[in-house]
Amino acid sequence: MSRRSDGSERRRRRESPDIPTPTEVCYCLGERDLGALELHCAGCRKWFHQRCLRDLTEFYGLPFMVCYIFKCQDCSPDKKESWSMKQTNFSHMCVMALANMTYNHYNEIVQNKKDILSVSAQGPKYFHVEKEIVPFFAENWENLTNNPRRVKNSWHVTLSKTLAKETELFSVNPENESEVGLSELNLLEIGPFHENIKKLLQLGRRPPANQPLPTADSDTNDSDSGPKTRGAAKRRREESSSRTSSMTPTKLSAPSPALSDFKMPVVTIEKPMGLLKKGTLDAGTVVEGMDGTVAFPYNREGMQYFYAEKDVHVPERDKFDNVDPELANQIPAHIYRWQVPNQVVISTNDRAHQLEVSDDRLTVTGKDGYAVARATHFILYGKWYYEVELLDQPEGSHTRIGWCQQLASLQACLGYNQFSYSWRSKKGTRFHNAIGRTYSKEDYRVGDVLGCLIELPERDHFKGNVKGSRLPPTRKDKTLLNYKGRIFFEEKEERKEEVRVVPQPGARITFFKNGVSCGTAFEDINSGAYYPAVSLFHSATAKFNFGPDFKYPAPPGARPICERAEEMAIELALSDMLFLTEKADELQQNVETKLRTLATTN
Ligand SMILES: [Zn+2]
Ligand SMILES: [Zn+2]
Repeated sequence: MSRRSDGSERRRRRESPDIPTPTEVCYCLGERDLGALELHCAGCRKWFHQRCLRDLTEFYGLPFMVCYIFKCQDCSPDKKESWSMKQTNFSHMCVMALANMTYNHYNEIVQNKKDILSVSAQGPKYFHVEKEIVPFFAENWENLTNNPRRVKNSWHVTLSKTLAKETELFSVNPENESEVGLSELNLLEIGPFHENIKKLLQLGRRPPANQPLPTADSDTNDSDSGPKTRGAAKRRREESSSRTSSMTPTKLSAPSPALSDFKMPVVTIEKPMGLLKKGTLDAGTVVEGMDGTVAFPYNREGMQYFYAEKDVHVPERDKFDNVDPELANQIPAHIYRWQVPNQVVISTNDRAHQLEVSDDRLTVTGKDGYAVARATHFILYGKWYYEVELLDQPEGSHTRIGWCQQLASLQACLGYNQFSYSWRSKKGTRFHNAIGRTYSKEDYRVGDVLGCLIELPERDHFKGNVKGSRLPPTRKDKTLLNYKGRIFFEEKEERKEEVRVVPQPGARITFFKNGVSCGTAFEDINSGAYYPAVSLFHSATAKFNFGPDFKYPAPPGARPICERAEEMAIELALSDMLFLTEKADELQQNVETKLRTLATTN
């Protein structure tokens, strides 16, 4: 248990040989700041203070994060800092929790913060599993992982098992087997490139994207040694038998009844960890398209994800099958195409995460404050219509329905900013850019069927205007991301402040109550693409009807939004083909370069 703590020699051994240990810290050329949130760059391997970050200015979280890929400005291809979460398992969470607990413990007893390192180097600080570690997890769950909180308390057992099993990471107190401490005594070493932490990721390696994963049910995926993948259990067995540890594992006592009696306290989550504002990363599992269960990353502030499939029109599409899933961003994105759902439903991942969506993805129930759910498809021109039926609106809950653009805030009401327009259940008020105006003058209630009509200029109106080509954008020019074994396009959202909206003369929105028009609600609405959307306050429930069969006849000339699915699929295919044709030479070169690069790195 007497491990040396003067990191230097060990650090050299830990880093992969081709990346020398940097002597500099951060852009500020300062010093490591134990106990503050610092990020370890995957490129130059320098540490960066969270407070010094230049692009990720909204980054937050607990110190001692271990499961991410961060690139500093110098190491990022576009010279902008990037950060992405890797899938966490209980081992990662335990390391992070114990490092924080250890630091907090010493921070309370030492006079000078600088002494924490030397005191903590004396030997592991042990914590009682059920009395200290479990409560820490319960309090900080959202800061330890993006996986949803476990509903059942069976995770306590998983936690105990993890602590007992990962003998290289955790030491059991020889004098009290209910207590566990961190084996690594130098807290400065805790990060994504710690040798034993890296091993966890290797165990969790996923198969290439073309091998579908088995159904990942997040609530049963209590695996303590990485995600469940084909052969993972076998690899784990092989790995653990080949592992040699200088430490003799002491058997951790089985969890006592008291442990499983522990009740998760109710914690209000202000911010989930990381950069996420629109929602948490894991959108749960849903069926979309033809290839089974897919876990979606939620769109988040500044970043959107689009499910991708291989494009059969690209001859080189199979040449990157053997690329490590972690390196998905090295694969030329144009060999994939955006797989738009084949019917208009509520979006899986482009909505506020806390909303409850029915299996058919047409009904949505709110929770707490106003939050937005929107459809999978958007419109760029023409006259379109859909209905919403209010199924439930308990006392104190409200509904706003209408239309929104991509940049509308999802954790807000519809009509919150200049990117959305809405009609509220209470008093029939209409809202845009946070301003409410008198409109239909009476509440709409449970049982009412509400019609939403949008009229944009027809496609011909935009002819000759390159910017207004009225085709959905190809995603082939974006970056690929492997999320839980599936490939997504990752697209940076335009910054709201930089988007200039202009009124579109003649474009307007009208609402209908039980088939009767309430009059034009908004005229000369802002130009752009529009999604059908609702926002719900507390537990109101609304059901979308995208047609073609409406409860009340659609206004003359208006098309049911369901027709948009096929139309958009055709338009997107056209958009993709145009991109492939226009960039043919460039794309071919890119394929060759990427293949060469990948060949030399392997
Ligand atoms: Zn700094
Ligand atoms: Zn760097």
